[in-house]
Amino acid sequence: MKRLQAFKYELMPRGEQQRQMRRFAGSCRFVFNKALGLQKERYEQGEKKLGYAGLCKRLTEWRNSTETVWLAASPVHPLQQALKDLERACTNFFAKRADFPRFKKKGQSDSFRYPDPKQIKFDQGHSRIFLPKLGWLRYRNSRDVLGAVKNVTLSSSGGKWYVSIQTEREAEQSLPSATTAIGIDVGIARFATLSDGSYIAPLNSFRKHEQRLARYQRGMSRKTKFSNNWKKAKARVQRIHVRIGNCRRDFLHKATTTISQNHAMIAIEDLQVRNMSKSAVGTAERLGKNVRAKSGLNKAILDQGWAEFRRQLDYKLAWNGGHLIAVAARNTSRTCPCCGQVSADNRRTQERFACVGCGFEENADVVGALNVLRAGHARFACEVSGAVMSPAAGTHRSDSGAAQCRA
Ligand SMILES: [Zn+2]
Repeated sequence: MKRLQAFKYELMPRGEQQRQMRRFAGSCRFVFNKALGLQKERYEQGEKKLGYAGLCKRLTEWRNSTETVWLAASPVHPLQQALKDLERACTNFFAKRADFPRFKKKGQSDSFRYPDPKQIKFDQGHSRIFLPKLGWLRYRNSRDVLGAVKNVTLSSSGGKWYVSIQTEREAEQSLPSATTAIGIDVGIARFATLSDGSYIAPLNSFRKHEQRLARYQRGMSRKTKFSNNWKKAKARVQRIHVRIGNCRRDFLHKATTTISQNHAMIAIEDLQVRNMSKSAVGTAERLGKNVRAKSGLNKAILDQGWAEFRRQLDYKLAWNGGHLIAVAARNTSRTCPCCGQVSADNRRTQERFACVGCGFEENADVVGALNVLRAGHARFACEVSGAVMSPAAGTHRSDSGAAQCRA
C-alpha cells in the first residue's frame, strides 16, 4: 500500500532567506489574485474559464511584461502551483463543493510549494534542505522523514516559517491489532461519545483563549492602523490564534490516534459539517431564524473540528488496517437501541434518553453512538456482500480488516 505522509518542521532561515520567502509568498499571492480576477471577469461575461495551461501562458506574459517584471525574481514552479490551486478551487466551485474562490490577503496562510523533487536536495543528516532560489535552509529536526520526497511546502504562521515535506513510501498493509467495532456520536456537550459508554470531553480551546483574544483585538482596534504599535498588537493577536490552532491539533491527533488504535471498525454519523455551520444570518431576502443560538452552535462546531476529526480517523484507521464507515444521521437520537421504537418522546431532555416503549434508559449520546454502530454494522454487511458500494463510506478498506470485523 502506498502511504503518503507529510512531515512538518520549523525553519531557521537567515535574514535574507526570510525576506526571500516573504517575497515568493507575496508573488504567489499576486499571481493567484490576478488569475482569479481574470477568471471572475470571464465568469461574469459568460465566457469559459481558463484551464491550467491557459493560465500558465498568462503567467509567462506577466513575467515578461515590464509592469510585473519582479515576478521573474521568484521561482516559476511555485507560481504555477498557485495557478494549480486556483484551478482546483474553481473546479470545486463548479462541482458545487465549495464557494467561489476568494482573493487572498497578505498574512493569511502565506505559503508556496515546490512540486518538483528533482529540484530539491534533502540532507537529513545535517538538518537542512536545498530549495531553488533560496539555497540551503536549516530546520529543527524533530523526527526522521520516512519515504521519498514528493514535494515541499513552505508556510508562515505567527511570525515563524515552516517546511512541510510530503513523502511517499511503500508501507506494508498492517493487520489491525484491535478487533472491536465501535460507534461514535459527536456533540457539543461531549466532543465524542463511544458506544461502549466512554467519551471524550470537549477541548474548547477557543473558548478558553477567547477573552484574551477579545482584549488584544480591542487593543489592536484602538491603535492607528499600520503604526508600529498596531503591528505589535497584531502580532499578539496572531500568536493567540496560532496557540489555539496548536491546542486543537494536539487534541484531535491524540483523540484520533487512541481511537484508531483500539478499534478495527468505526461507524460515525455522516454529518454535513459544512451545511451545519452555514451562515445563520440568512440572505437579504430570507432572514435566518435563531441567529443567536445558531451562531453559538456554529462557533462550537468549528471550535471542535469535527470534519478534521473524521478525516484523521479515516486515514489513521487505514494505516492501522481498520476502516471507517459513515452512516446517514437519521433518527439516531430518537431510536431505542433495545426495542427499536422511534419516537421524539424518547428524548425529552438533551442528556437523557428514556424509551416510551420498553423503559430503557441511558445517556442520550451513548444511545446515539449505539444506533450509529448498529447502522454501521448493517451497512458493512451490505458492502461485504457487494450489494452496495458507496463512495460516502471510507475509501480505504482491506479484506483483512473486514475479516477481523466480522469475527
Ligand atoms: Zn425501547
